[in-house]
Amino acid sequence: MLINCPYCGLRDLTEFVVAGEAVARPDAHGDLDGADARAAFADAVYLRENPAGVHREHWFHAAGCQSWLLVERDTRTHEIIRVDAISAGMARETL
Ligand SMILES: [Zn+2]
Repeated sequence: MLINCPYCGLRDLTEFVVAGEAVARPDAHGDLDGADARAAFADAVYLRENPAGVHREHWFHAAGCQSWLLVERDTRTHEIIRVDAISAGMARETL
């Protein structure tokens, strides 16, 4: 299987590391004083959707350009639908 890295072009799957579901992370410096805030933080850190279908994941091009990527993949077929570079200015909602 080949993945089209935005920086390197088509590269073999073995060059990449999957880092899990792409979700917006809670603010590391946010308020965790309340039980609801702690529960929301735990959900964001530990719970994952694991859908059957299109799924967005963080991938790392470990044996290539060392870039973090946002990969949209169908978990039923493993088809890679889209690959985007993750930039520092990217909105938290898109991650
Ligand atoms: Zn790359």
